[in-house]
Amino acid sequence: MNAETTLAILGASGDLAGRLLLPALGELLMEERDRTVHLIGAGSTAMDDGAWRQRVTDTFSSVGAEDALDRVTLGPFLVIDASKAEGIRTIVDAASEGPLVLYFALPPAVTASACAAIDPSDLPAGTMLALEKPFGTDERSARELNDTLRRLVPESQIFRVDHFLGRSTVLNVIGSRTANRIFEPIWSHRDIESISIRYDESLGLEGRAGYYDGAGALVDMIQSHLLQVLAIVAMEPPATLDEIDLRDATAAVLRATHIWKDDPAASSRRARYTAGTVGERRMPSYVDEPGVDASRGTETLAEIVCEVRTARWAGVPITLRSGKALGDPAREIVVRIKPVRHVPTGLTGDAPGTVLRFSLGPDRLAVELNVNGGADPFALHRAVLEADLGLGAQRAYAEVLAGILDTDPTLAVRGDAAEQCWRIIAPVQEAWRRGDVPLEEYPAGSTGPDGWPA
Ligand code: NDP
Repeated sequence: MNAETTLAILGASGDLAGRLLLPALGELLMEERDRTVHLIGAGSTAMDDGAWRQRVTDTFSSVGAEDALDRVTLGPFLVIDASKAEGIRTIVDAASEGPLVLYFALPPAVTASACAAIDPSDLPAGTMLALEKPFGTDERSARELNDTLRRLVPESQIFRVDHFLGRSTVLNVIGSRTANRIFEPIWSHRDIESISIRYDESLGLEGRAGYYDGAGALVDMIQSHLLQVLAIVAMEPPATLDEIDLRDATAAVLRATHIWKDDPAASSRRARYTAGTVGERRMPSYVDEPGVDASRGTETLAEIVCEVRTARWAGVPITLRSGKALGDPAREIVVRIKPVRHVPTGLTGDAPGTVLRFSLGPDRLAVELNVNGGADPFALHRAVLEADLGLGAQRAYAEVLAGILDTDPTLAVRGDAAEQCWRIIAPVQEAWRRGDVPLEEYPAGSTGPDGWPA
């Protein structure tokens, strides 16, 4: 009997599978040499055995993982209609005897109809379901999708994938804030002035208008990823990092998170890029990108300010921002500590608060401090202590995939948390629909519209 885990990628011919999932599988198998996987692909258009094998080989080669190919038992590429019960049955029939992972790398609407169509009795015991973002389109649809999924398997076998939770820097926040006596006692409104979580990109639309023009930066990044990062930064320190303690702690933060002063018009901003140059690359205006419907008013840069209404955090503004086609893009979690109440008379210069900066890619931790010394021993100046945090983004999907293959949902988004993320942004979406917040513009390659912080 073969007890190998079967990883069935539904949508194996798609962009996500080719660019992220299959390379991540290669990376994982390179690192964990005892692991083997039975791999099945599926899509609605036929791919012959040779082309399927070539796709797996090419994607593994793209991350230098050719040596891991011998740890893949390559199953067939199946032509199915995933939105029909029959499609899923075809996959189950082709799976090995071991645990089965159904990875839905399908357009979101197809994933939803596929899950609705599955007959629970068709799924072998222990089947794991992995779903990509976006999870639903609003709080209600996320709740309905959760109901559908729980009809099929228990919550611990559902993996709502957020690869940000596999990023080493995000995980490093947990250790840095909980395992150091210089940070652990000050991690609250008493000492922290503000927090900013920013993920700007130099990339533009990259041909993904079909998805992005219906989502925009608020949904694509803030709802799907940055709120999960907020939850890690602001959670009560959990007793353990197991799936129950960690996910209870992050879900509790999300339940307490609201738009600052319940005023989405004053606490959010949106903009979209016009033609410009990013690095060496000339970019057209967002509205001139193929497939974009300008009348939708989709934003390519979004910012919201939140408050976590708990005794620990009430009154601390937490700003989340993400955008595309930006010059000098910042990707970081910045924790600003309040200035000290008094600096001894005799020390000269400013003493702004200490800043703790977690950079995402390259992954680095920096602490900005006031020190004195040098030519004038009583003059304060800024010093930066930096530490390299090692591997970053590349490992994120592999980390998430390892969790799925090991039936460990710690790094997956729990159903209630996914619903909360929609609940948090809903007032902003409504304010934007009403036109309460102007859609500003910024040239591609700039740091954003005039008046926004660089
Ligand atoms: P693509 O459009 O590139 O790929 C979709 C895949 O689904 C194709 O393999 C397609 O096969 C298959 N498919 C579509 N309809 C059916 C059907 N009825 N039955 C069986 N197979 C079907 O999408 P992406 O790969 O870009 O995205 C997939 C998911 O991942 C989406 O939910 C997306 O939001 C999410 N995601 C994508 C990211 C990315 O960078 N691409 C990043 C993060 C999340 P065929 O062509 O044969 O129809």
